[in-house]
Amino acid sequence: METGLLRHRRPALYMAHPGHELCVYGWVLAARPLAHVLTDGSGHGTRGRLDATARLLDGAGAAMGEIFGPHTDKFLYRAIMQRDTRAICGLFDAIVTSLVVNDIDFVVADAWEGFNPGHDLCRFLVDTAIQAAEAQTGSRIQNYAIQLWETNRNGDMHRPRGTLRLPLTPGAFQAKIDQARGYDDLQSEVDRALSSGGYDAFRTEHLIRVAQPRYEFPTGIPYYEQVGEERVRKGIYRSCLRFEDHFRPIMTDVRRHARGIYGGAAYAGEARAGTAP
Ligand SMILES: [Zn+2]
Repeated sequence: METGLLRHRRPALYMAHPGHELCVYGWVLAARPLAHVLTDGSGHGTRGRLDATARLLDGAGAAMGEIFGPHTDKFLYRAIMQRDTRAICGLFDAIVTSLVVNDIDFVVADAWEGFNPGHDLCRFLVDTAIQAAEAQTGSRIQNYAIQLWETNRNGDMHRPRGTLRLPLTPGAFQAKIDQARGYDDLQSEVDRALSSGGYDAFRTEHLIRVAQPRYEFPTGIPYYEQVGEERVRKGIYRSCLRFEDHFRPIMTDVRRHARGIYGGAAYAGEARAGTAP
C-alpha cells in the first residue's frame, strides 16, 4: 500500500450502489473513508443491501456518511427519466455539504463508464460537487474514480497517468475475498468477477485520477442505452433511458443550480463560452 494514500486527513467514498466498496476494499481498510451511497441497491426488486454494506464498512473501520441509501434504484432511474431536477439537485446539495462540513480532501467515487446511469450520475454529481465545494472553501480536493465495469471485462484497461496502484497485502487480500464471499446479495457478481478477472484483479486495486472530467462514450452512445434500446425492441421495456434525451438535460439543470448557489464560471465537462460544445 502506498503510504501517500494515508496522508489525507479526510478521505470520502461516494458510490451509486451498496457493494461497490468491495472493489476498493483494500483502500477502505487502509484509508477508512467516510462512505456514502446514493441508493439502497434494491435494483428492480424491493430488497436493498444497505445492511450488508453498513456491516462491511463498520468492520473495516470506515464511517457511514450523511448520504446512505436515501433513494431506491427505481426512484433514481425515474428521477433521471422524468427530469426530476429537485430530487437530483437535492442529492447534489447533500454531496456538496458533506464535502464542506467534513473538510474532505480526497474523494473516491464511481467512474464515468456508460455502463450504468446510476454510476455515471454519481460521477457527474461528485465532479460538480467538488468544484462547488472548492469554490466555497478555497481548499483543493483530490478526485479519483473506481472502474466498476471494465475491471471485470478487461484487465488491461486504460489507466491514465496519475492512477494510484494499490497492491494489497496478503492479509488485506484474504479479508477482501472473505468479505466478497460473505456479501450474500452479490454472490453471482463476485463469482463472475473472480472467474473472469481472476484473483489478480482483486489483488491490486486502482484509483483512477480524474483531472479533467469528460463525459463521453467511445462508441458515441452509452452501453446502457444500447441495452435499453434492445429491450424496447423486444418489448421488455416500454422506453429506455437515453443520454441525450434524459441524462444531458439533468446535467444542465445541476450545473445551472450549482452556479446559482455556489458560483463558479464553468462546471465539469461544460463548454466554456466561445468554445465548441
Ligand atoms: Zn452499481
